[in-house]
Amino acid sequence: MKTKHLLFLAQIYAATYLIVTVAENLPTDGIEDKSIAEYVQTFKKAGESFSHGLKFPNLNIGMGIIKYMADAMNLGESSLVMGICNPATIPATILISRQYWEASSDLDREQLIFHELGHCVLGRDHNDEITVLEDGETVPLSLMNTYVIEEEHYTRYREEYIRELFTKVNMLGNAECSDEDKSE
Ligand SMILES: [Zn+2]
Repeated sequence: MKTKHLLFLAQIYAATYLIVTVAENLPTDGIEDKSIAEYVQTFKKAGESFSHGLKFPNLNIGMGIIKYMADAMNLGESSLVMGICNPATIPATILISRQYWEASSDLDREQLIFHELGHCVLGRDHNDEITVLEDGETVPLSLMNTYVIEEEHYTRYREEYIRELFTKVNMLGNAECSDEDKSE
């Protein structure tokens, strides 16, 4: 049994429209950081390979300090917000925690940007479904998981995660359940 998941309790992505968030240095001018722009390009390319004519809206994406109200999110004090998509601004705004970004690997950065673009570009909500694979390993089914996916799993299932992001067909070959499907 893996116990690494506990580490992830300290790593949370936030869907801003669910929480009250105050951000410093709100980005106001497109994608200001080249290191971020790279991942946005990768996202666009991946999106185009799944759906031709993927509409990519104007976005302001930047890095800064993210403050948040732990009480509003029911999170412990040790929880951190790595990125935020705020679809309520015009254009929509993504804020990335500079502290997290600077300490992150290439794949963790990609995962974060893809997740936030999943909210802001694809309009996706969180999907915290987990599956047990044939080898007994437990993995999140979607990049839209609330928590950071272990790098080892993201590396191994990167293609599946990207396919799921754009098509909702997950690594089991199933489409994501909609809320209606869960009504019973
Ligand atoms: Zn999120």
